[in-house]
Amino acid sequence: MIDSDILYQLILANKDKCKGGKVADYIPGLKNANKENFGVCLIDNNNKVSCAGDYEKKFTIQSISKPLILMLAILDNGEDYIFSKIGMEPTGDPFNSIKKLETSLSKPFNPMINAGAIAVSSMIKGSTSENKFNRVLDFIKKISENPNLDYDEDIYMGEKITGNKNRAMAYFMKNDGIIEGDVEEALDIYFKQCSIRVSAFDLAKIGLFLANNGVTSYGERVITEHTAKLIKSLMVTCGMYDGSGEFAVRVGIPAKSGVGGGILSLVPGKMGIGVYGPALDSKGNSIGGYALLEEMSKILSCSIF
Ligand code: GLU
Repeated sequence: MIDSDILYQLILANKDKCKGGKVADYIPGLKNANKENFGVCLIDNNNKVSCAGDYEKKFTIQSISKPLILMLAILDNGEDYIFSKIGMEPTGDPFNSIKKLETSLSKPFNPMINAGAIAVSSMIKGSTSENKFNRVLDFIKKISENPNLDYDEDIYMGEKITGNKNRAMAYFMKNDGIIEGDVEEALDIYFKQCSIRVSAFDLAKIGLFLANNGVTSYGERVITEHTAKLIKSLMVTCGMYDGSGEFAVRVGIPAKSGVGGGILSLVPGKMGIGVYGPALDSKGNSIGGYALLEEMSKILSCSIF
């Protein structure tokens, strides 16, 4: 474990790197983020919490929702059904790329890219769109152990209005039978799930849940150990966009980033890690968050490889 004062030193040492990045601006609302915000939180198995900087600041979860909703979709449908429609391979392409949809027998490559994640959103069970999204929100409340999570209505609406590339991919997948239900309903769930507001503290809690293979700190098993391992494997191979290979070499722990600036990470069996820094690199990963995780991995010698 690393103490809060050392984390604070790491924040200070890496703060300037954030100035070189850009906040995401293709979704209205995200461009208002403050590039200088930077926070980190670690929670270990004994519930010892170390944190520094803007670790309580709320931001939208964005792509970090993808592995979380995948767990619920597996509970709802079983793993075999999900992976009959979606692959498990990294693409090497940007998260919102459309090009491989046509050349991969129309199966999205994996559930961590937008196409695959929208397909996963279409598989959440429920009687209405609202009921389906509420199940997603309740699931994330449970594994973050935070009953107060909500979503950002402005960011949701902004994404719904401007998300035409996501819409195009969803209609493409409807045409090819990957999405079976209503396309707009699947998109609505996807846009809302991306707009759920979390903090680095919440992400560290979720990281700890995965570090413990799907058991909450209250001892409740929510997903099977097998599903937890599947999620962590996909985080390693596809979690840091088309920079996942380099991240595995430099940091070597499961992680999932989002264009809101968050990174969910964990050390298996040991601790959950949440980082926030909205200045992004060219692939969409938090610059400060990445640098911090790289240094932490060296200090803790925690690469899984
Ligand atoms: N809502 C974002 C989108 O669909 C998520 C992207 C991300 O965080 O990678 O583009």
